[in-house]
Amino acid sequence: MVSYKELGLVNTREMFAKAVKGGYAIPAFNFNNMEQLQAIVMASAETKSPVILQVSKGARNYANQTLLRYMAEGAVEYAKELGWEHPQIVLHLDHGDSFELCKSCVDMGFSSVMIDGSSLPYDENVALTKKVVDYAHQFDVTVEGELGVLAGVEDEVSSEQSHYTKPEEVVDFTSKTGVDSLAISIGTSHGAYKFKPEQCTRDPKTGRLVPPPLAFDVLKGVEEKLPGFPIVLHGSSSVPQEYVDTINKFGGKLPDAVGIPEDQLRKAAKSAVCKINIDSDSRLAMTAAVRKVFAEHPEQFDPRKYLGPARDEMKKLYEHKIKEVLGSEGKAE
Ligand SMILES: [Zn+2]
Repeated sequence: MVSYKELGLVNTREMFAKAVKGGYAIPAFNFNNMEQLQAIVMASAETKSPVILQVSKGARNYANQTLLRYMAEGAVEYAKELGWEHPQIVLHLDHGDSFELCKSCVDMGFSSVMIDGSSLPYDENVALTKKVVDYAHQFDVTVEGELGVLAGVEDEVSSEQSHYTKPEEVVDFTSKTGVDSLAISIGTSHGAYKFKPEQCTRDPKTGRLVPPPLAFDVLKGVEEKLPGFPIVLHGSSSVPQEYVDTINKFGGKLPDAVGIPEDQLRKAAKSAVCKINIDSDSRLAMTAAVRKVFAEHPEQFDPRKYLGPARDEMKKLYEHKIKEVLGSEGKAE
């Protein structure tokens, strides 16, 4: 048993309370490798933004849970080296799908876990989530639950259609389970193809797809039922079209990839939404940078020569999200 506190990590309780009050959101960035983690830590340290490092089931399979945990421990030390005196870094399990998985993360130093029982019948979701909360809270590890189903694909999480969260269920769910935060479904979606072209309109000037707006009425309904309770948005990449264009220009094939417009996320961050998950955007940044190097310098075979630019591009993206979208800059001085 390793306590996250020994590793210099923090749980989400205090940072969420401040974010809800302050009208901003904490970035939750997924990581699978060193360059991604370096970029996240550099961007957070430079902007003094609290940050959540997320490990998905896919990341565990790809990079190994133990290695990722030590990387997160290293991230805290690296952040200090970069001059961030009191880093506020959370190590969070994204989409935990069983009690055993959540327990294993709590036991090895994660400071926060998500138990996603959203695909289960309501009563089973309540029972499973409560079991995880009861275990995690003994060690002061915070727990995120989910109500409602998101559309899209993210690693092994997939769902054909979304079901918005029902505001009338949230009080019962949070009081019965004791969760610290709640992921809700208001129209965000996993992956780089969040909407089908037929769900969108087209901007006559640019010819780009314009996605349907998020269901802010559902969010408002949830906030009214649970005033001040920390709300989480998954699937909140914006799929920057300049990355899509670069990827397509240099041999990629991402037709009609579309995300959540940043002005919608800005609006959400000002509400009780205090954690916004961003994964696909960093994948796109990385892929665009790597494709560009390969296309322009086919003689290159040193991984540092293409992963380096990929890291730079991801850092730029993370800083942009922190400063221009979530508003979390300077919140962890
Ligand atoms: Zn998710």
